[in-house]
Amino acid sequence: MTTKTGNYLNHFRNIGIAAHIDAGKTTTTERILYYTGRTHNIGEVHDGAATMDWMEQERERGITITAAATTAKWTRAGQEYVVNIIDTPGHVDFTIEVERSMRVLDGAVAVFDSSQGVEPQSETVWRQADRYGVPRIAFSNKMDKTGASFELVLNDIRERLGAIPAPVQYPMGQESDFKGIIDIVRQRAYTYTNDLGTDIEEHDVPAEYADKVTEMRAALIEAAAEVDEDLMMKYLEGEEPTVEELVAALRKGTIEKKIFPVLCGSALKNKGVQLLLDAVVDYLPSPLEVPAIKGTLEDSEETREFPADPNGKLAGLAFKIMADPYVGRLTFVRIYSGTLQSGSYVYNASKDKRERVGRLLKMHANSREEVTELKAGELGAVIGLKDAGTGNTLIGDGDEHVLLESIDVPE
Ligand code: GDP
Repeated sequence: MTTKTGNYLNHFRNIGIAAHIDAGKTTTTERILYYTGRTHNIGEVHDGAATMDWMEQERERGITITAAATTAKWTRAGQEYVVNIIDTPGHVDFTIEVERSMRVLDGAVAVFDSSQGVEPQSETVWRQADRYGVPRIAFSNKMDKTGASFELVLNDIRERLGAIPAPVQYPMGQESDFKGIIDIVRQRAYTYTNDLGTDIEEHDVPAEYADKVTEMRAALIEAAAEVDEDLMMKYLEGEEPTVEELVAALRKGTIEKKIFPVLCGSALKNKGVQLLLDAVVDYLPSPLEVPAIKGTLEDSEETREFPADPNGKLAGLAFKIMADPYVGRLTFVRIYSGTLQSGSYVYNASKDKRERVGRLLKMHANSREEVTELKAGELGAVIGLKDAGTGNTLIGDGDEHVLLESIDVPE
């Protein structure tokens, strides 16, 4: 189960997109699915009309956004990544659903409307992510909108959320002048060459932004040095870290929830979404970088850990049940450890029932893929489970009875 560059799990990202209603969660998700589908499923699309057609078709099919977990692929620096997007409910009243989704994701993208800053509901979701220890990056969306202000979002993150934002991008222009994005870490600028934002050009940082970028990069290095000793040593000796070192330190800080990288863009205008996907890969954790899920043995206080390993004991969690017009009951599961095989028997430890697994599906933006197994770190849908409900633990048939516990919530 290893790839040329190590364990396949290094190239997995299980993420949620969380937002206040209207901040642009749906649009951002659609764009992500569009870009990941464009490179992997439907070939290159150059003109805008084709882009919109694809979106329309997706909407009509309605598979995309309603799937509890959608599997997408993204290539970063020649390496293919699997990005599973877990649907996180946008309404606060579904707190229990939010809790479940928080348990199955390893990282989140918090989307803000940059003309509104941090709205009350975003604050609630942010606090939930804090409670469940979810590392996150923030996306300051709607940079094209009247009243958009990146500074407003940064200030609100500081003041309303009490978090220290680490802006890794800076917008070139705001509101109707929004033209592109500067990557502060790499000191490169990206401008969009067509109205739909599907074509990007990379170039040097324009002179007018040079001072700002230098100042912001220095602040990033300082923040990264706080979480990385080697970087701190370099910093104290006045040495410049390399891009790779800086990314690694920011990533470490993000995973430890001490750093919150902030990006900007406009999902509606297709601006910044490719860079957002790059940042998901750069800063959010793989399943190997989050604490292993724990379970408690039945009738005892003893606990077991399930590190992400496809050869370990099976441990999975059903997190959403959906009725499908074609195949009936779909049980969405996350496999933490072991491998779930189609046609096998599993034990539902929450219901004390043995259940037969029928077919297994991975849901993609515009297709469903039937697979024979779901490995540790993967998410997908099971057809055929009759009794499993949301929040149920699935373990191997014949294994000791363990119930997966909710992530420890510090009071
Ligand atoms: P959700 O409720 O968070 O899922 O938000 P939607 O994605 O449905 O977006 C809410 C509204 O904001 C829609 O009318 C979108 O067209 C609009 N919207 C989303 N992203 C942007 C953006 O980047 N710029 C502008 N101007 N409008 C946007």
